[in-house]
Amino acid sequence: MILRPGPVAELTELLSLSEMTVDPQRTATLVVDVQNDFCESGALAVEGGRETARRITECLAAPRSFGLVVTTQDWHIDPGSHFSETPDFRDSWPPHCVVGTPGAQLCPELSLPRLDAAFKKGEFEAAYSGFEGRLDDPRQRPEDRPRLNTWLLDHGVDTVLICGLAFDYCVTQTALDARRLGFETVVLGPLTAAISEETARTAEAELADAGVRIL
Ligand SMILES: [Zn+2]
Repeated sequence: MILRPGPVAELTELLSLSEMTVDPQRTATLVVDVQNDFCESGALAVEGGRETARRITECLAAPRSFGLVVTTQDWHIDPGSHFSETPDFRDSWPPHCVVGTPGAQLCPELSLPRLDAAFKKGEFEAAYSGFEGRLDDPRQRPEDRPRLNTWLLDHGVDTVLICGLAFDYCVTQTALDARRLGFETVVLGPLTAAISEETARTAEAELADAGVRIL
């Protein structure tokens, strides 16, 4: 299966509670890295990024419940070899999502009906998985801020629905971590976009092997 944005109506149908047996009281939707730098005209643009943001906005505005809504953001200050002047686009990348720049902000096409928590990751190192992030809570010292896993468990979550950018990197790594940590894990395929078809195929196989469901 090659991931392509599909009709939102189809997705909400796929997600109907009867088919999914998803309990909104125990579910969180993780909106991964829908930031300006990962959208068209950004420093590390993913084709279809803005359309993905629009679809997430449309989908989460639907009357069905997606449970708690959580965002993650790549949030770099000095991430070492994650940045390179001569990036290989696998382990090193052009500078992106630098704290204090517009590229690090959530893209304007993303509008969420509710936001229960925001997590930031990667200040001083590469961080592909949202589970490496900490809660953005200025009232707490940075080292005291809970990580995503702790926050989800504290809120009684056992199922995560994952969407955002890019499918083949941060979405996949977030989903693999979620599964490893014991969450029922579903990737909302039509609400993602990939950097390349080749890495998307590899990611799909990894997700399937790990027991992650891809819609
Ligand atoms: Zn990064």
